[in-house]
Amino acid sequence: MSRIVFWVLLAAAIYLAIVFARSRRISGEKKKISRKSDPRAPVAMIECPQCGTHFPEDEAVLGDGVAYCSERCRKAARAGKHA
Ligand SMILES: [Zn+2]
Repeated sequence: MSRIVFWVLLAAAIYLAIVFARSRRISGEKKKISRKSDPRAPVAMIECPQCGTHFPEDEAVLGDGVAYCSERCRKAARAGKHA
């Protein structure tokens, strides 16, 4: 009788180990995915006042307190103002 109890406990232990390992793997994958598709992570997009192109905020070229998409647009805007 004690043999059956031993095997049942062994089977239960193996089953729990598999379930535990699986749940850990799934939660690890979820963390990776959520880190990639985090809605707060993407950089804000700004519209260039010179050419109208949308570009990421961290690539902005600042000129006179205005964010342009490139050095070219900043120069063009300045030239436009002075002309
Ligand atoms: Zn531009």
